[in-house]
Amino acid sequence: MGVTLDLSRAAAGEPAQARPNLSGLTRPALAAALVSSAAVPPEKARMRAGQLWRWMHHYGVTDFDRMTDIAKETRAALAERFVVARPEVVERQVSRDGTRKWLIRTAPGIEVETVYIPDVGRAGALCVSSQVGCTLNCTFCHTGTQALVRNLTAAEIVAQVQVARDDLGEWPSPKEDRRLSNVVFMGMGEPLYNLGGVADAIDIISDNEGIALSRRRITVSTSGVVPELAALGARTQAMLAISLHATNDALRDVLVPLNKKYPIAELIAGVRAYPGLSNARRVTFEYVMLKGINDSLAEAKALVRLLAGIPAKINLIPFNPWPGSTYECSDWGTIERFAAVLNRAGYASPIRTPRGRDILAACGQLKSESEKVRASARRQAVAAPAATPDTAP
Ligand code: SAH
Ligand code: SF4
Repeated sequence: MGVTLDLSRAAAGEPAQARPNLSGLTRPALAAALVSSAAVPPEKARMRAGQLWRWMHHYGVTDFDRMTDIAKETRAALAERFVVARPEVVERQVSRDGTRKWLIRTAPGIEVETVYIPDVGRAGALCVSSQVGCTLNCTFCHTGTQALVRNLTAAEIVAQVQVARDDLGEWPSPKEDRRLSNVVFMGMGEPLYNLGGVADAIDIISDNEGIALSRRRITVSTSGVVPELAALGARTQAMLAISLHATNDALRDVLVPLNKKYPIAELIAGVRAYPGLSNARRVTFEYVMLKGINDSLAEAKALVRLLAGIPAKINLIPFNPWPGSTYECSDWGTIERFAAVLNRAGYASPIRTPRGRDILAACGQLKSESEKVRASARRQAVAAPAATPDTAP
């Protein structure tokens, strides 16, 4: 692996020892970075930004020297001030079923997990993380046992897509027959607690002159941060998924403690108001199947009543166990009978096949070793950046 660097500082535009990375900036931020660096005259900044954009996001290049339509001297000036590098891939695992998981170190102490699942969505889905850890403590989720380390920057979210495409050989952006056809924000963290980073990342990966993923193939999953739903729809036009998991507040309060703040009735009202919902753009409700907890036929019927009139599909997720988890997955027959009730009521209710369980890559199994760094330690690290081995020279 070549140059690696701290994407977080680069993206925030803070002065850093390392040269800032351009490859995770939004278009306006990229043009601004060029102008403020004086590497490019202001009147040429937009044009240069357009060229760089295509090289970085359509061709996936990580070296200014490959940007052959930019004059040699300009390339040299850019390379003196910036990089277009990837973060370090610390670990890559491939499951028996073809699922791939990458552990990516985007900054000192910041490790992110990303999972590619073949044959999901149109061709294959990338499950990206929006935070390291999570502030919410859903009782069935491994990530919920890890304290929030911090929000990921847009650059760190985009880097997950770039790393996956490097590994899948998807540069330049193919028009057809893509292996990575969908992106789902279902990795670590609660995306609606990081809406700014998530929305900027969606702008970058959906840009037509770059990775060009349709916003309709990008799904944001939330445990139910009701006040942010309207902003998510307006700002991103992404597809919405709601982690419901229960049909009454008493049980949902236990499974998804955020329910105490935003109970089911408020959540459902927020979903009904989500911009752009229609039969062609349905909301997905996720429902994890927990043996003896939420899997009775009475609950299936209650689910049908709860969702009446919402253009929806229901994704039944067999519970994926993790070290130390106390729940069990419902029996297969129970899940099928539950699904049949939903189907009879007219809902598509696919049962999500567990993928990548052998490498702990399935839904809710992600948890990195990153620890929350105390503020004092962080200050020390900033004061002595040379001591951090994965910061670029
Ligand atoms: N924080 C967001 C997105 C990440 S979780 C959210 O909660 O929606 C992605 C999905 O995996 C959610 O539906 C979550 O409820 C589900 N999940 C979490 N732990 C799981 C587990 N152990 N088995 C199956 N699904 C799980
Ligand atoms: Fe956080 Fe989602 Fe896991 Fe709940 S299910 S702890 S919101 S990542």
